[in-house]
Amino acid sequence: MAKAQICDLQQHLEVTQNLAKKRKNDSMEPAVVVKKSVCSAASASSKGVSSRPSIGVRSQYGVGLARAIHGTEARSRAVNCAATVAGVIGKKPRVAVTAPSIVQTAAVGSKKRPAWDLKGQLSDMKVQLGNMKTRVCEYTSKLEMSELQSRQLHESMDQRDKQLDAARAHINELQSNLKAVELLLKDREVELAKCQDENTAMQGVLEVRETEIERLTGEVTELKTSRSVLQSNYLTLSTQAENTENKLKMKEMELTQKVTCIEEQQSTIAEQRDMIVERDERLHCAEQERRRLHNTVQELKGNIRVICRVRPLLDSEREGLSEIQNVQFSASDEKVIILTKSEESHTGHDRKDEFKYDFSFDHVFQPIATQKDVFEDISQLVQSALDGYNVCIFAYGQTGSGKTFTMEGPDDMTCDTKGMIPRAVDQIFSTAQELKTMGWTYKFTASFLEIYNETIRDLLVTKPEKNVEYEIKLLNNKSKQLHVTNLKYVTVTMKDQVHNLIAMAKANRSVAKTAANDHSSRSHSVFQLQIEGSNSDRDLQCTSTLSLVDLAGSERLDKSQSKGDRLREAQAINTSLSCLGHVIMSLSSKESHIPYRNSKLTYLLQNNLGGNSKTLMFVNLSPLEENFSESLNSLRFANKVNNCVIGTAQVNRK
Ligand code: ADP
Ligand code: MG
Repeated sequence: MAKAQICDLQQHLEVTQNLAKKRKNDSMEPAVVVKKSVCSAASASSKGVSSRPSIGVRSQYGVGLARAIHGTEARSRAVNCAATVAGVIGKKPRVAVTAPSIVQTAAVGSKKRPAWDLKGQLSDMKVQLGNMKTRVCEYTSKLEMSELQSRQLHESMDQRDKQLDAARAHINELQSNLKAVELLLKDREVELAKCQDENTAMQGVLEVRETEIERLTGEVTELKTSRSVLQSNYLTLSTQAENTENKLKMKEMELTQKVTCIEEQQSTIAEQRDMIVERDERLHCAEQERRRLHNTVQELKGNIRVICRVRPLLDSEREGLSEIQNVQFSASDEKVIILTKSEESHTGHDRKDEFKYDFSFDHVFQPIATQKDVFEDISQLVQSALDGYNVCIFAYGQTGSGKTFTMEGPDDMTCDTKGMIPRAVDQIFSTAQELKTMGWTYKFTASFLEIYNETIRDLLVTKPEKNVEYEIKLLNNKSKQLHVTNLKYVTVTMKDQVHNLIAMAKANRSVAKTAANDHSSRSHSVFQLQIEGSNSDRDLQCTSTLSLVDLAGSERLDKSQSKGDRLREAQAINTSLSCLGHVIMSLSSKESHIPYRNSKLTYLLQNNLGGNSKTLMFVNLSPLEENFSESLNSLRFANKVNNCVIGTAQVNRK
């Protein structure tokens, strides 16, 4: 818009400037032009030379002269000029009216007179002069008119100049505005360029954003899908939550009921607890009473009890024999055993005298008796060990009478055939477990040794070191507890551990057996379990030792036939077994000196054979007739022991 306006104004300015120039030129020459106009018009017509006519001339003669001089083009220009001047002055030119008369006059005067007609020529010239004068007058008046017009024109030109100046000033103003606008425009262009750059950058960003939007749209779609899934899940969960809440309410109600119930029960429990404490106290008293009574029973049974056991015939021994010949049992009395022997009568050959030797013990087990039957009879005694009494159980009898079978069990031992030692261990551990509820805790220490030729050997050591000395020593004088130096004492917490130790001892014994020709039958094996019990609730402690002894074979060897090692063995066995007998007899007859030190066995078992202990002797018998005399010897020895009364056993309690 501004540009277009400026263009218009510039064009207008140009036109105005041209016009002003023309006017200036015209205004500079009017007087001259007027004077010249006649001659110039005349000369122009005669010479045909192009000269710019003045405004005044053109206003009067413009059309005729122009036609004469320049033809159509000049005429149109003259018309335009005349029109312009007329426009400026505001009057119609009158030139066109007067011009023909001048031309006509000139044409009349052009009739040539002869040279000689001077008068004529003079008159003509006078006429012409007169015409000329008229014309001069006319022209003068016209000139005056023109001058007036010229002045008017000048005035109007001044006005125009003023207008022109105003227009120029306006133009200048517009130009400065234009410059400002141009500067603004440049700034805008720069800004535009910047904006375009930014736009390009933004388009790049936009593209990235579009990609991002696309990705996000995808994600949104995915999220929408997962939202709908979640919504459905939420609905399901809401339903579940509602159900759970209902259930919870139900449970809460139940809980409240139960809490009430529990409170009631707690008060009942408190009452019952008091009752339990009371009962515990009563139970404890009862337990003490039981122990006392148990001890009394044991006392009544005698501090040394003897149980006789006759083994069955072995398969290898059954040849021709259907039943045991020389051993009889009483059908009514489990305590009686009768040995019979028929000998040829002194009075005649066809008669045989029958000798009967009957013995009575605490119990006589027939060959059919099982290990379980036998153990039932001694389990009370084993129980005493946990109550704090020293207990010693040993098996006496000739080799092959069933001592090892009774004490340990056979080599192919099963649960049914296991002997007294494993059964005693089982009972000790299970009873200790039961006594835990009454506040008793126990510590068990096991050892297993054998005495051969008055030498101690540790059966829990497979490869004994050379020259290791095992000495029996008093641990301390007060407790009189014995201790074997260098012997392995193993603390055991489970019965299986003890079974493993027993198996190990058995294996170690059988190794020696092959090396020293049935060495086991000529050695005493001693399994000892030291028991330390404590009841922290009642500040009670008890200590005891359970000794289970498999004695060497009691058979008497024919000394005349025995030599060397066999003789020494026999002497050692005899010594230790007769020592055992002597100790028991001395205890029975309450002698001041008990000969414990006479053998390793009695020395080791001194605490288990005194008044402070309970002793049980198995007298094992072979059913074979050939073993009659040994059986009789065994029964006699057992009978002696059985008749002993060795005071009252005392519990080792603090
Ligand atoms: P000991 O130790 O007195 O020398 P054993 O215990 O070795 O005698 O017994 C000798 C044999 O008799 C062994 O084969 C043993 O298995 C068997 N025996 C012993 N007592 C019985 C019994 N009560 N029942 C079955 N077999 C027995
Ligand atoms: Mg044996």
